[in-house]
Amino acid sequence: MTTMLSVRDLTISFRTDEGTITPVQNVSFELDAGRTLGLVGESGSGKSVSTKALMRLLPGTATIAPGAAMHYRTKSGKQVEIEGLRAGGRELRRLRGGEIGMIFQEPMASFSPVYSIGNQMMEAFRLHRGIRGRAARELAIEMLDKVRISNPAARLDQYSHEMSGGMRQRAMIALALSAGPNLLIADEPTTALDVTIQAQVLELMQGLQDELGMAMIFITHDLGVIAQIADDVAVMYLGTIIEKGPAREVIRAPLHPYTVGLLEAIPSLDRLDARLKPVPGDIPSPNQRPSGCPFHTRCGQAMAGLCDQRMPAETTPSTGRSVRCWLHAEEGRHAA
Ligand code: SF4
Repeated sequence: MTTMLSVRDLTISFRTDEGTITPVQNVSFELDAGRTLGLVGESGSGKSVSTKALMRLLPGTATIAPGAAMHYRTKSGKQVEIEGLRAGGRELRRLRGGEIGMIFQEPMASFSPVYSIGNQMMEAFRLHRGIRGRAARELAIEMLDKVRISNPAARLDQYSHEMSGGMRQRAMIALALSAGPNLLIADEPTTALDVTIQAQVLELMQGLQDELGMAMIFITHDLGVIAQIADDVAVMYLGTIIEKGPAREVIRAPLHPYTVGLLEAIPSLDRLDARLKPVPGDIPSPNQRPSGCPFHTRCGQAMAGLCDQRMPAETTPSTGRSVRCWLHAEEGRHAA
């Protein structure tokens, strides 16, 4: 399979009034064409900041540490170094939208309140695909139909505030897909929806992905959603990927105590009497990052003198899987 996206050693810092914080540390991952990577973790784990760097959407207070590399292969097969693209240049404009689309938890963030849904979709067709006029209008109707919006010809002239939450979410997906992206970044797109609508939107996204052959990065705090939609998963904690692997394997046999904790916090219909075990404590603020393993302040298996002192390196216990935990490293196994 072709690697479409490769992120190596991404570390992002922000200047704040309280000093410099580093919400993303040494993040590395790859994504193959047509696959879905789930980025999972609690809020504040660095999931959204990492993907904003891919779109070059970080604010001016952010700095990417030297040594990071983000490579993306375009639809035409050209290898692009994202960091090297000129701000405001044509290549960066083409990357945003035309190559990489993004959808958010709150669809209002994607739509302009002063233009109809159809207007905004037709603008995306014109900008990224050179399609105008009647052809653009017909394609917009087809897209709304694809995302299962009833009476699409009439909906085209509506404004986003005239639609229900679930419909607006589907219209946002149609807008993001109008530019024909190669990669779709979906940032908690179903979190604000009712469970039944959530299931419909997930099913819709999978169907569209199969049909259009695009890759997807799906950001969520919910491992249950990952089980439904992702091929691979990267679990993030306080800016670091602590476990990675094929989604089903990670969910069936998690290696990192934090991943175990996330799974034990999910209610199950098979175990209605079982008590849920939330991960104890809160995720620390990035400006109070604990020394050593960042999870040691909440981990029931932390080894004093090791976990609180030194960050475990990434180990690969089996093909395709990796974990950052002393329990899975030679040195830690001796200490346990
Ligand atoms: Fe827990 Fe130590 Fe593993 Fe961190 S390295 S998750 S503290 S056992």
